[in-house]
Amino acid sequence: MTRTAPPRLAIIGGGPAGLMAAEAACAKGVTVDLYDTKGSVGRKFLLAGKGGLNLTHSEAPARFVERYGSRRAEIKHWLDAFDAEALRAWARGLGVETFAGSSGRVFPKDLKAAPLLRAWLHRLRAAGVSFHMHHRWLGWQAHGTLHFATPQGERAVPTDAVILALGGASWPQLGSDGAWMAPLQQAGIDIAPLQPANCGFELAWSEHLSSRFAGAPLKPVVAHWTDRRGVAHARQGECVLSEYGIEGSLIYAIGAELREQLAEHGEAVLRLDLVPGHGESALADRLAAPRGKHSIGDWLRRRAGLDAAKCALVFELTAKSTLADPFALAAQLKSLPLRLRAPRPVAEAISTAGGVRLEGLDEKLMLRMRPGVFCAGEMLDWEAPTGGYLLTACFASGLIAGRGAARWLGQ
Ligand SMILES: Cc1cc2nc3c(=O)[nH]c(=O)nc-3n(C[C@H](O)[C@H](O)[C@H](O)COP(=O)(O)OP(=O)(O)OC[C@H]3O[C@@H](n4cnc5c(N)ncnc54)[C@H](O)[C@@H]3O)c2cc1C
Repeated sequence: MTRTAPPRLAIIGGGPAGLMAAEAACAKGVTVDLYDTKGSVGRKFLLAGKGGLNLTHSEAPARFVERYGSRRAEIKHWLDAFDAEALRAWARGLGVETFAGSSGRVFPKDLKAAPLLRAWLHRLRAAGVSFHMHHRWLGWQAHGTLHFATPQGERAVPTDAVILALGGASWPQLGSDGAWMAPLQQAGIDIAPLQPANCGFELAWSEHLSSRFAGAPLKPVVAHWTDRRGVAHARQGECVLSEYGIEGSLIYAIGAELREQLAEHGEAVLRLDLVPGHGESALADRLAAPRGKHSIGDWLRRRAGLDAAKCALVFELTAKSTLADPFALAAQLKSLPLRLRAPRPVAEAISTAGGVRLEGLDEKLMLRMRPGVFCAGEMLDWEAPTGGYLLTACFASGLIAGRGAARWLGQ
């Protein structure tokens, strides 16, 4: 009697999505080979841990899912399988307790990614996942055979099913460079252009502002903007002046809208209220008091509470005649217009928008045009602000793809 070999699943990409897919498929009895172009897996995950690994968010599920904007309906299905609570329980299972900070963001107790990744890889190896590093996926050869470049030369790997979890195109030095687009496009897969998300925006700063105030925080401020449907929005938060323009969590949170406006109109205007605690007319009265020998900068500090960075920004963007008129100046402080010129390049962004369109995938994240090929993580066409939403959706989609591939292989 001949015994058929157990089906083999290849997972390409060892970020959070690929590793979670490996865990899910392994748990269903599938033999998993995981390939990555780099010498080790999880490099972006480790980088994410540098400033404190924001794993997920503790807000209510209904609010959580809203963070995925136009993709919330599809991503709700992923989160039904693996939500923030499930993610925290999973981390606990790896010996990593989490806590929710005052903003609701959830972190490991030690804030680090490395202990979590170490424990996870140990568990995956024990479960039988085989890791193949320095394998750069180039595409498919005949009969769906996977084609890799390795230090020993090119390698063809036959497989029964494959999960692509190749990440976006930000921070390409960590492995995800978006080069996967070419073979997928050749295979006729519909891909939305890759774009920067959670990124800074460029403005035309003077040499003085960019050299003296790069890195200075602006806080608190309220950003006002009008979306493409003409609806006005306001949001309080923090941003940071940079050499090229502006960045920071407030900018990231509204970046998708700003990026789309720039693409459509070539310009996006963001108005900053630099003095959220003051009403405009009371502020004008305070500024209108006799100034004596105080300079305008000193006056802005004393009467409006502006720090040096906010003052420099006001001087940068305000005409002399406005500075001299307390009423016009108060209006300017409450609504300082920033004319954004372009988002920063995707290579610098925290994440990538665009990717494999979800319409081309079934509910198990299998490509409709290519049965047996699944996709997961940031390479899919969705985006979210920072706050743990990125990792949560990567984990959840990896789980769905891993389970889907196992089912497809008949396990
Ligand atoms: C500075 C920074 C901080 C971040 N902080 C947070 C945070 O605190 N919270 C949060 O939720 N998110 C954060 N993110 C985003 C988060 O890290 C990513 O969304 C997440 O890692 C994406 O997971 P992924 O598995 O889809 O892709 P990746 O983590 O990018 O993994 C993809 C893998 O595929 C491999 N690969 C790519 N192409 C090939 C190929 N052709 N052949 C073989 N292998 C290939 C890569 O080497 C890589 O290992 C941060 C990102 C950055 C850049």
